[in-house]
Amino acid sequence: MTSNFTSGTLYIVSAPSGAGKTSLIKALIDAQTQIRVSVSHTTRVMRPGEVEGVNYHFTDRQAFIGMLERDEFLEHAEVFGNLYGTSQRWVEQTLREGFDLILEIDWQGAQQVRRLMPQAKSIFILPPTQEALRQRLTNRGQDSDEIIDGRMREAVSEMSHYVEYDYLVINDDFTNALDDLKAVFRANQLQQGVQQQRFSDLLCQLLA
Ligand code: 5GP
Repeated sequence: MTSNFTSGTLYIVSAPSGAGKTSLIKALIDAQTQIRVSVSHTTRVMRPGEVEGVNYHFTDRQAFIGMLERDEFLEHAEVFGNLYGTSQRWVEQTLREGFDLILEIDWQGAQQVRRLMPQAKSIFILPPTQEALRQRLTNRGQDSDEIIDGRMREAVSEMSHYVEYDYLVINDDFTNALDDLKAVFRANQLQQGVQQQRFSDLLCQLLA
């Protein structure tokens, strides 16, 4: 695996289940056409309302293991007993095309990606309180109490990894959290190296 991408920036976004990560990212990319979101492969069962190829590529365990053995994943992890992985080829291609790319992955995947691509920017989204998190998980109405208790334990464990991330966003108020997220992307898009690529013609003219 090489890490010499020359174009788009890779972003890792992690959050405990129920912190509002997916809604925030959706709102972010609705406003910014140069950002793409990776569609992971998973062995998890499809939830009501989810769409194959949009939320995930839903695969069985055997097919997933096959991809793993063929080294097709940039990163992968087991979360809540299900396997999740990010297609390496798709990530490389999207970045080469010049798009910024968001990986919505857990802390285990984030650690793997950081090792391979230390230039990736990572953002952790936190809920305002544990109660708010439990409420959001309950409101989904998709999981049993037992699963929600398990997800709360997983959430605390996931949140303990916040120190490994470059940016922290607290999702107390959706609009504020979205503004924070936009600010992170905006600041990164203004970095000298990124602007140099984007405005190479202008810079040549200015320095002629
Ligand atoms: P959910 O099943 O609720 O959509 O996601 C459960 C967890 O798996 C979330 O923390 C989510 O970020 C993580 N996840 C989703 N896709 C991937 C992936 O491709 N790789 C890794 N490492 N985690 C993922």
